[in-house]
Amino acid sequence: MKILIVEDEHKIANSIKKGLEQENYVTDVAYDGTQGLDLAVGEDYDLIILDRLLPGMDGLTICTTLRKKQIHIPILLLTAKGQLNDRVEGLNAGADDYLVKPFAFEELLARVRALLRRPQKTAENKLTVGELSLDTSTFQVERGTKSITLSQKEFALLEYLMRHANKVITKDQIINHVWNYDTDILPNTVEVYMTHLRNKVDRIFPDKLALIRTVRGFGYMISDKEV
Ligand code: CA
Repeated sequence: MKILIVEDEHKIANSIKKGLEQENYVTDVAYDGTQGLDLAVGEDYDLIILDRLLPGMDGLTICTTLRKKQIHIPILLLTAKGQLNDRVEGLNAGADDYLVKPFAFEELLARVRALLRRPQKTAENKLTVGELSLDTSTFQVERGTKSITLSQKEFALLEYLMRHANKVITKDQIINHVWNYDTDILPNTVEVYMTHLRNKVDRIFPDKLALIRTVRGFGYMISDKEV
């Protein structure tokens, strides 16, 4: 899951980023409103954490602009003020939830999880494809009764594939969801990670159906259906 943080106070932005990355979310940070809007429009995020008062363009304007463009990513608005007016204005502008500063990271995380669960049930804790299961709250991956240990990136990659099981996912989609926008991705980076993942998910189970498939010329797909 990829989250955009738009917050001009570097300290707050960086601590949110660090906390979310520890929870295995991929994050990008914009320190002003203009860059925030550019990223929100140009990249593919699952959630935006948006500060209300920002240089460049304020949070409410960003909210309204995104909704006008028919971009319906969940938005969690942060603000230093907690008056009723602010709350109403924020929700009217199209924010999905509202958090008053200062807040505990745990509270932010709870809101983030709730928002990611809400729209398309994309954040159910346990994903399964056949007998392969991945739990996004405990980070456990199992195939049958055997537990599989994955690195953070492998986990993110498998989670992304499993959320779109039985659908072809392109390399670009993988790069956009599993890596930050400013990371240098070599052309074969995705392939390298995919090979690691296959070794752990499929190759150590030679008697079982290979779940991760290459769709030549298009990308990858995870499925437990026979081809
Ligand atoms: Ca601010």
